[in-house]
Amino acid sequence: MSTPPQYVYLFGQERTDGGTAMKNLLGGKGANLAEMCRLGITVPSGFTISTEACAVFTQHGKNHLLESIDAEVREGVAFIEREMGKTFGNPDDPLLLSVRSGARASMPGMMDTILNLGLNDQAVIGLARKAGDERFAWDSYRRFVQMYGDVVMGLKPVSKEDHDPFEVIIDAVKREKGVQLDTELDANNLKELVARFKALIRARLGRDFPTDPWQQLWGSVVAVFESWNNERAQVYRELNDIPQAWGTAVNVQAMVFGNLGNHSATGVAFTRDAGTGEDLFNGEFLVNAQGEDVVAGIRTPQQVSLVGSRRWAELAQVGEEERRASYASLEELMPPIYAELLHAETLLENHFKDMQDLEFTIQEGRLWMLQTRNGKRTGAAMVRIAMEMLGQGMLDEQTALQRVSPERLNELLHPVFDPQALKDGKLIARGLPASPGAASGQIVFFADEAEEWVKRGKAVILVRQETSPEDLRGISVAQGILTARGGTTSHAAVVARGMGKCCVSGAGAVHVDTKARTMTVGEEVHAEGDWISLNGSTGEVFADKIATKEAELSGDFGKLMSLADKYKRLEVRANADTPDEARVARNFGATGIGLVRTEHMFFKRERISAIREMILADDEAGRRKALARLLPIQRADFEGLFREMSGLPVTIRLLDPPLHEFVPHDEAGQQAMALQMGVSLAKIRMRVDDLAEFNPMLGHRGCRLGITYPEITEMQARAILEAGLNMKAKGIDVKCEIMVSLVGTVREFNAQAEVIRAVAARLFAERGETLPYLLGTMIETPRAALVADSIGAQAEFFSFGTNDLTQMAMGFSRDDAATFLPEYLKKGIYTHDPFRSIDQKGVGQLIEMAIRKGREARPDIELGVCGEHGGDPESVAYFHRAGLDYVSCSPFRVPIARLAAAQAAVEDRAI
Ligand code: PEP
Ligand code: MG
Repeated sequence: MSTPPQYVYLFGQERTDGGTAMKNLLGGKGANLAEMCRLGITVPSGFTISTEACAVFTQHGKNHLLESIDAEVREGVAFIEREMGKTFGNPDDPLLLSVRSGARASMPGMMDTILNLGLNDQAVIGLARKAGDERFAWDSYRRFVQMYGDVVMGLKPVSKEDHDPFEVIIDAVKREKGVQLDTELDANNLKELVARFKALIRARLGRDFPTDPWQQLWGSVVAVFESWNNERAQVYRELNDIPQAWGTAVNVQAMVFGNLGNHSATGVAFTRDAGTGEDLFNGEFLVNAQGEDVVAGIRTPQQVSLVGSRRWAELAQVGEEERRASYASLEELMPPIYAELLHAETLLENHFKDMQDLEFTIQEGRLWMLQTRNGKRTGAAMVRIAMEMLGQGMLDEQTALQRVSPERLNELLHPVFDPQALKDGKLIARGLPASPGAASGQIVFFADEAEEWVKRGKAVILVRQETSPEDLRGISVAQGILTARGGTTSHAAVVARGMGKCCVSGAGAVHVDTKARTMTVGEEVHAEGDWISLNGSTGEVFADKIATKEAELSGDFGKLMSLADKYKRLEVRANADTPDEARVARNFGATGIGLVRTEHMFFKRERISAIREMILADDEAGRRKALARLLPIQRADFEGLFREMSGLPVTIRLLDPPLHEFVPHDEAGQQAMALQMGVSLAKIRMRVDDLAEFNPMLGHRGCRLGITYPEITEMQARAILEAGLNMKAKGIDVKCEIMVSLVGTVREFNAQAEVIRAVAARLFAERGETLPYLLGTMIETPRAALVADSIGAQAEFFSFGTNDLTQMAMGFSRDDAATFLPEYLKKGIYTHDPFRSIDQKGVGQLIEMAIRKGREARPDIELGVCGEHGGDPESVAYFHRAGLDYVSCSPFRVPIARLAAAQAAVEDRAI
């Protein structure tokens, strides 16, 4: 006969079956409890019912589960009884248990917990006698009945407006007794609560609260397994990509009490500071309290260490005498226990080689560790801890690199809200976190007015229904941008990210009325001039001004970045349109510019009129006249870029957006344009109507513009190459790459290449000198990827424009996808936004095919990506595996991409 599968794993003094390595089977909590036992740390004994049992429950139901684990659980309880010297169900001195969930990945607060299990009308008397504290016993009992009634018996509020039925009773009793706090209820009051709770259960459910401890235990185990599938756990899993199939483990453990008088306490501690990363053991505790009291914030917790306590007192403006009398540290109050805790924290951090978050309870002078796990921390702490642990020899370079989540570097690069001020902030709406950072300012609804306000020394938030390139000037001076429409690759978002400017886009609940100059959210109206604050990292919009602080780039950040450069293979360039952005990018370690969107240069005041003149021109001659005005302006821009990026490649893309983006669409704007250009309003209107397209994203843009108006390409090519020659003459090392966009056939590329090469030949002949340059193309239509061999035979480089490639491969518009994509994500049709993280399975096939075909045609072809995905860590890892030479992203994402590229390279080595 084969041995039955093992579902239950013990942990305690005498025997421990599990350990950290068994995290998948025992969940994080269970595995670490076992590991602590192995390290000789005192942990209340218990056992873990494995995640495999969860699968049995999910597949075969409750009865089959209980049959499968019955014998092992009984053995497990007997084991705890032996270890703790108490008997489960003994009315005189009952063993009480906790039953807690614990999945492979931490899911804080998402699943259920039962404490004080084993109490009933007899056991509570035994407990009171044994503890010498009747109030304690009855408080434990009422908490148990309440938790069990809620979690296991399902006695919850009837509707979302309803209050928790148990809390309603507690409030009633407090009112009747004339007290404010739970802690003011005496033993008799608590007895009454228990009686009323039980009566409620009977009345509502038609059955009694179970008094048999075994029945309580089985009910709790099943309920905790069931809670794996409750709604909030499901939502959490979706948000954090945790597979449903993992299941949870269940931990059954002896209870210990921190509320048994003044030699008892409970607390939480961190082996390093989770906010700053400082290597300082710290934490909080409360004497004579239970775990939830520490977090509930009713009493002021005390600090574990003396150093921490003194720092706290300074901040709280508590004098040393008062501190010692009322808020003494654990180090002062219970020195031997503190020494033991210090020993445990050092042991655990050295063992796990990461900052630990600990929970402990002191029961009548004895320390029990209840949990250890890798602690959550801020981005700044993450960097500092990884670099210090590397310095301390705890981690090797590769592990230290892997310890920092690239996305979290954001917090170090942009201004951040003061956490305290944020707590008091009033949330009014949510949108997409389009560009991180924290911004406060006065609401302004028009870009030009944003400029005026800023000139008058005001801080503004530009609020728009949606943005167009015309808003660029307003965007550049605003503290932040809020749009009611548009996704994370909308113009506002792309531009804001490039500038490192905070932006929340697609906040659907925000209704913008530019006439009334108001922004309405629900019932609330915010007028022009009112203060609001945006959190571009979370998409939250707050009323009023919230204090911010500048990000600090510490020495550890620099260390991390050099380490990343040592390991990464991918180069990281930046998408930058101005010398300022180029400077920022270079400071952040960009090794080139992968995309200059030349159109962004057109929006400054004198330029927009020249481009509009070109658009209005009736013939080529008229267009050429207008373009001649633009040429010196563009040339000066390019000179600035070449100067900033001396020695590094600069990839300049020819004009891309449809021309209608350069003309005003509102009556007032058209009137102003007519006046400025000295033409009739009717003419302007007619031209605007001519330019209108149903699907501008798929319309007359990219190389299609250059093919219909080659003189635009000519002017731009000349401006680029003249700038290059001028800078070269000044000793600047110019590395110029000219890029054609949106090609779908090699003939399009050839047509544009011919124009550019002719300009170059003429110019070089005129000047009597040459400038080496690369001539390449974006790959951003599916057809370009399909025929990449023929294009690769002509183009010297490919740069994947994954924004357009995604739009066209998926068949949904970048501008409009925000109307349905959130629903798709909610329903799990897409697991992530394909405009944010590249769709590896689908769009990836096009990229891989183009890489292969491109290299076949031209083995030394340069391959990069310049879509928004170039700054997304997961996509960067993918581009590394796919074999690209570089990624290019917004300047502020350069450090993120560098780290992601290094992590991908380290992972590669590990395989
Ligand atoms: C792209 O399509 O990925 C790209 C970089 O070009 P743009 O976003 O300017 O269309
Ligand atoms: Mg594009």
